[in-house]
Amino acid sequence: MQDTPKKLVGVLALQGDFEAHQKALEAAGADTLQVRTAEDLGRVDGLVIPGGESTTMLKLLGYTNLLEPLRSYAATKPVFGTCAGAILLATEVLHPSQHSLEAIDMTVERNGYGRQIDSRVATIPFQGGELEAVFIRAPIIRRVGPSVTVLAEYQGTPVLIEAGHHLAATFHPELTGDSRVHALFLSKL
Ligand code: GLN
Repeated sequence: MQDTPKKLVGVLALQGDFEAHQKALEAAGADTLQVRTAEDLGRVDGLVIPGGESTTMLKLLGYTNLLEPLRSYAATKPVFGTCAGAILLATEVLHPSQHSLEAIDMTVERNGYGRQIDSRVATIPFQGGELEAVFIRAPIIRRVGPSVTVLAEYQGTPVLIEAGHHLAATFHPELTGDSRVHALFLSKL
């Protein structure tokens, strides 16, 4: 029945849990490619920026000369950022402030849940049902611009948003064996 070719989705593979994203994307029906160069980026229909450590990722993007290619990529192609990836996509980053790809009009506070209870698993409403959300030293989205639609919230702040063809989650949808959020991203390609 399915004769449309599978989409090729890149996962930025400089640092962080990129392999878990590859599995989730493949479960949702895509082919994947680990992206480390501008050439890799040129091959993919969409890109996932995984969780990890956003400051480290920014440094590695600088060393590998990927920052500008990524900015141009995000201007025309779908990007899904999770946790540290969401921080990299935001126009404004707080606590502490750092530069970013400025692809989604939102303000993000790093490590927003504080230190003592900085990681947790929560059940959040999603698509008329429920979704298990794993937060690991997660940021909090403090402001979203008019171009942003909130798709899921936890404790009164957005945790999953879309902005045009971009998607951002402050939690880790790649860790629960539920590929619905990845399927949503694939629907944007
Ligand atoms: N606290 C990390 C940061 O600020 C993000 C954590 C994560 O990606 N799980 O980059």
